[in-house]
Amino acid sequence: MIPYGRQDISEQDIQQVIEVLKSDFLTQGPQVPLFEKAIAQYVNAQHGVAVNSATSALHIACLALGLGPGDSLWTTPTTFVASANCAIYCGADVDFVDIDPRTYNMSIECLTDKLAQAEKQGKLPKIVVPVHLCGQPCDMKAIRKLSRQYGFKVIEDASHAIGAQYKGKPVGNCEYSEITVFSFHPVKIITTGEGGLATTNCPELAERMRLRRSHGISSCKDEMKPRPEHEIWNYQQIAIGFNYRITEMQAALGRSQLQRLDEFVEKRHAIAKAYNEDLRNLDLQLPWQDPDGYSSYHLYPIRVKSGAQRPSQKALYGRLFEEGIAVNLHYIPVYRQPFYEAKGFKEGYCPESEKYFREAISIPVYPNLGEEQYAHVVRTLRTALASGKV
Ligand SMILES: *Cc1c(COP(=O)(O)O)cnc(C)c1O
Repeated sequence: MIPYGRQDISEQDIQQVIEVLKSDFLTQGPQVPLFEKAIAQYVNAQHGVAVNSATSALHIACLALGLGPGDSLWTTPTTFVASANCAIYCGADVDFVDIDPRTYNMSIECLTDKLAQAEKQGKLPKIVVPVHLCGQPCDMKAIRKLSRQYGFKVIEDASHAIGAQYKGKPVGNCEYSEITVFSFHPVKIITTGEGGLATTNCPELAERMRLRRSHGISSCKDEMKPRPEHEIWNYQQIAIGFNYRITEMQAALGRSQLQRLDEFVEKRHAIAKAYNEDLRNLDLQLPWQDPDGYSSYHLYPIRVKSGAQRPSQKALYGRLFEEGIAVNLHYIPVYRQPFYEAKGFKEGYCPESEKYFREAISIPVYPNLGEEQYAHVVRTLRTALASGKV
């Protein structure tokens, strides 16, 4: 099967992991801080906090910003469930802002309207989580302006977007947000197996995230409570935290992968450009690129035209699988998931995201997608759409 996304592991990546396995530390050694520094430097942020997943990073980011019961977090419905679940972990409520029909990112117009309404009802969000879907950056300047006006904090979910740029600068520099979160799951741009990282320019936020990453334990003299001199107090638990640590092997893999990040993104661009050309004449909507951004092309979603007598998304999806192409759908609107439905969300809540859900299919895009595999994808799409049966 040809997957929709796949990691690219080199001999050097393997060697770096082996070196760590032979070293003194498998966890809590030198690799993690080096990895954090390397990513922070790459994206031009002051601090990086590496954890075992982007899901964990979103959780500790919300905690660091003080999200709790009675608060609410808004995100887009067209995302992976983790962008919303982080609020539930903190005992807060979640709400959703519909997407823009061109970029598929959170709609600034919908956000603006929803904020104005929420202000009247005294229900403004504490945090908004824009998601750079497929690696295409959101309109962060507009979101920042609204965050200043309404007083909410911003966490960028950049799980798809390491290596992407917004207005010529790297996503993750937190110029327009408090915190940015990356994922290093194998389908994402670079991988550590499982892994995530939060960047920020605020030292207090970085410190709070570090504390939550490791049980809420500190061994910093300034943070510890005074205790009797004759007792040994080499650490104290000063908050409730978790074990969200990433291993040394993972951090070493991440450092090695980072060296090829730009090359990976360039290869993804070359594939996207080829699709743009080769699928241009088919009855499909291809991804539009905002000139303000440089996408990392984590995903390349095509949209079939929905409605009667038009190609059906489900038939095309099935047809691609029959031809050995394991496409995917990103995403089912989060609020349509049974867990969120049980909180009262109903079908029709965000019409654009539902339309997208009924039309989109993510076709293969990853650095080592072979020429023959690529040709097979294009041929299959052409034949399927020409047959009129899908
Ligand atoms: C993959 C992903 C996550 C979660 O990442 P993990 O590292 O698997 O926890 C969160 N948000 C989005 C948008 C994602 O695509």
